[in-house]
Amino acid sequence: MPDQPIIQPTQFDPEDEYRPEPEPEPLPPSWMDGSLRIGIHTSIAGSYLNALESARKLGCNALQIFSASPRMWQGGSARIPEVDAQAFRTRRDELRLGPLVIHANYLINLASEQRMLQTRSIQAFHDEIVRARALGADFLVVHPGARGEATAGQAISTIVESVKQASKRAPMGGLRILIENTAGMGSAVGARLEEVGEILAGLRNLPVEACLDTAHLFAAGYDIKSEAGLASTIGQIESSIGLENVPVFHVNDSKIPLGARVDRHEHIGKGKIGAAAFARILRHPRFGSAGPEGLAGRAFIALTAALKKKISAQRSQRDTEKKKTRKKKSAAGKNNTRKSKARKKKRG
Ligand SMILES: [Zn+2]
Ligand SMILES: [Zn+2]
Repeated sequence: MPDQPIIQPTQFDPEDEYRPEPEPEPLPPSWMDGSLRIGIHTSIAGSYLNALESARKLGCNALQIFSASPRMWQGGSARIPEVDAQAFRTRRDELRLGPLVIHANYLINLASEQRMLQTRSIQAFHDEIVRARALGADFLVVHPGARGEATAGQAISTIVESVKQASKRAPMGGLRILIENTAGMGSAVGARLEEVGEILAGLRNLPVEACLDTAHLFAAGYDIKSEAGLASTIGQIESSIGLENVPVFHVNDSKIPLGARVDRHEHIGKGKIGAAAFARILRHPRFGSAGPEGLAGRAFIALTAALKKKISAQRSQRDTEKKKTRKKKSAAGKNNTRKSKARKKKRG
């Protein structure tokens, strides 16, 4: 073979000179300050502002709400008066609460084969998007729906079509739709992580990601109770959805044993998943809210305040352990000390 010249002649492309400035990256929201985000589901009874105050009183820095009654079809206008929306956005900003997660109405069935119900669901979900945008929400969580007599494949196409329809003429801004995994009760779609992954794949052109509920995972047969089961579940999440596409976890224990496919929540540590398993889940670096293994801004949403305390305790214990191992490592050599300092700085 002839000798290759060591230095390749520079290829000059005149286009290089006149390339337009790249669009600036949008700034992350102010609440995304690298801290762990823990929220609870709070009530909007009386006023949207009440939900913010409840979250604040409970010491949460994130929250989930319904933007309307979750078990009724909306009568009349689905819009929130701009004065109310504005007051909510301002107060939320002051309290630096985030992310704001909105859980969609339970009656919505985006998988329905019945034309009437599908149309109604699309309309209701469109209204959910409009309200979520008005409130300045970060995420809108929705269940995939029930497939009835249809096959899972048919149902997934219907869901994809319904979400596309609902988001038509509804500018999304920074809002992301999260498809929630289910326990698989009745003909519920989304008990298998692959199904959630397929819905996401069908909606690739829209800002759609996933929300995983621990009780639903367990009831659907993912053994997050054992150490080995958790590791294999993480592997399955990675291959079907990707943990980088799971910005929100619903943290619930399950009244129902593994794989029994019924959706019954229990207080954390008091159900079939148990306290030891939650300690492992909440301390797992892949579920974390900081890089490189975690996801920046990831939130854990609980249903009760007691749960919030437990998550905080578990997580701070994890951080203490991390610091301990870091100290051990740094004692091992000067180079390591320098590295760990750099890491600390990065975390800020
Ligand atoms: Zn849900
Ligand atoms: Zn549930």
